[in-house]
Amino acid sequence: MSSTKSKVTVWITGDQCSLLNSALSSVNQESARVLMIESVTRGSMRRYHKKKLVLIYSVMRHFAEELRALGWELDYYSEHADFGAAVNEHIRKFSPSKILMMKQSEYGADSKLASLAGSVPVEFKEHCNFITTAEEFEALHKTKESRVTMERFYRQMRKKTGLLMDGSEPEGGEWNYDKENRKPPGAEFQWNKALSFPPDAITQSVIDMVERHFAEHPGTTENWNYAVSRQDALRAAADFFENRFDNFGPYQDAMLHGEPFLNHSVLSPYINTCLLHPLELAKEAEKKYREGKASLASTEGFIRQLIGWREFIWQVYWRVMPEYKNRNALNATHKLPDFYWTGETKMRCLSDVINTVNEHGYAHHIARLMLLGNFALIAGLDPLETNEWFNCMFVDGYDWVMVPNVIGMTLHADGGYVGTKPYAASANYINKMSNYCKNCEYKNNTSTGEDACPFNFLYWDFLMRNEEEFSKNQRMALVMKGLKARDDSWRMEIQQTAEKWRRTL
Ligand SMILES: Cc1cc2nc3c(=O)[nH]c(=O)nc-3n(C[C@H](O)[C@H](O)[C@H](O)COP(=O)(O)OP(=O)(O)OC[C@H]3O[C@@H](n4cnc5c(N)ncnc54)[C@H](O)[C@@H]3O)c2cc1C
Ligand code: SF4
Repeated sequence: MSSTKSKVTVWITGDQCSLLNSALSSVNQESARVLMIESVTRGSMRRYHKKKLVLIYSVMRHFAEELRALGWELDYYSEHADFGAAVNEHIRKFSPSKILMMKQSEYGADSKLASLAGSVPVEFKEHCNFITTAEEFEALHKTKESRVTMERFYRQMRKKTGLLMDGSEPEGGEWNYDKENRKPPGAEFQWNKALSFPPDAITQSVIDMVERHFAEHPGTTENWNYAVSRQDALRAAADFFENRFDNFGPYQDAMLHGEPFLNHSVLSPYINTCLLHPLELAKEAEKKYREGKASLASTEGFIRQLIGWREFIWQVYWRVMPEYKNRNALNATHKLPDFYWTGETKMRCLSDVINTVNEHGYAHHIARLMLLGNFALIAGLDPLETNEWFNCMFVDGYDWVMVPNVIGMTLHADGGYVGTKPYAASANYINKMSNYCKNCEYKNNTSTGEDACPFNFLYWDFLMRNEEEFSKNQRMALVMKGLKARDDSWRMEIQQTAEKWRRTL
């Protein structure tokens, strides 16, 4: 009994299921036992998509199996009411000398969890799935107030990791090949279906549990196809590199009706639960390029997402929280329309992407940014409510990644901290990059009248509502010049159409 009492507890939460977990990797099996808790109360805190709940709980159960097979002593609380009760029970049973955890990915969560341990000391280790430290990020800033662009940060990351470097110069002479990566989905566009992982017995038992406890949550548990173990996540990654990677770059902005995945990696659910490490994926991408199996544009694009955007978003989150989440620089106050939950709208593009989010908890980056996000931006939807919807509905959604992507990049509610200009677009862009408009009830080439596409009049109305502010932005000079050339009667018609339509939302 005395030897069990002196053991350290390593508490692992659902998005930290990796042998690289820095709390786990800092101890040995003789001196530590692992604690894992499925908290139903935590799962009910928000209206999480059912597939997101299945993913987390199934990843936990599979990781628990892996730990047991490796000989770890495990105290696992299945379908337990809440964290507090389970931690108390664990402490009563084992009297750990201390609790070790990896830093949580959500602001404020460390102290909340630590407070549950009573007098048992709780120590936090750095997160294992990021490759920059806060100190490195801070060192790039002149002062606490100054901001760093993603592009500058990304170049630092390329130099730091040595990825796609040719000595001290970027491979091929350019840091960024985005201009080659914006092809519309023409007749020549091809994509391969992503590997699917039907539910095994463990996942099926989790699906049953989610249906028992979270029946009222949005989304569906049907047609399960995500990986839930490191082994399968590695297979998903191998399938991407083999079958979709080379075509990922050029067509990464393309959208097609009924095809949510196209050539995207769909690896974020696994990276964000720590089943895969971003650096191992970035290195594999470079290997494919060096072997002549992928173009430089695809490789650079993918590596930029992983060591550029993902790291940048993580660092921004910790630098600016908690005040940042409540920013609303454009004074957007409209409530989120019901169709974001139901998909019931005549706008063919939004209806399709919302239906696929309901089914899979996934949409690719451009569908998130230029359909779901763009609409919220130009219609003036409330940033906090929009952020909440995104956070609940995506299998890869967590506070750290949603807040800067939604409040910052998408809604420009941070006044330009993450992105230097708002990603606002009319139907022109959507029509160019997708096949949605062809069969839509709205006309993509008109801005006024009964069947005018809402993306058009809302876009112009958005620019007018923020004309003074946007006119000062160099990157918006061209579009603001176009607006300036419009006469008063056109302006009034747009404003009235937008206002009338917004009232129906
Ligand atoms: C409104 C909005 C909400 C988003 N919400 C999330 C979210 O909840 N979780 C999430 O992981 N990503 C989020 N992103 C970023 C990005 O859209 C997703 O990471 C990507 O679509 C996931 O699909 P994939 O794995 O097929 O990505 P790919 O297109 O194959 O990209 C590869 C990887 O790069 C990383 N990545 C790319 N862009 C970003 C980014 N902007 N921020 C962080 N990581 C990035 C992801 O890990 C992704 O798996 C959001 C973007 C927007 C505009
Ligand atoms: S016409 Fe407008 S609403 Fe319809 S699919 Fe095109 S962009 Fe979407």
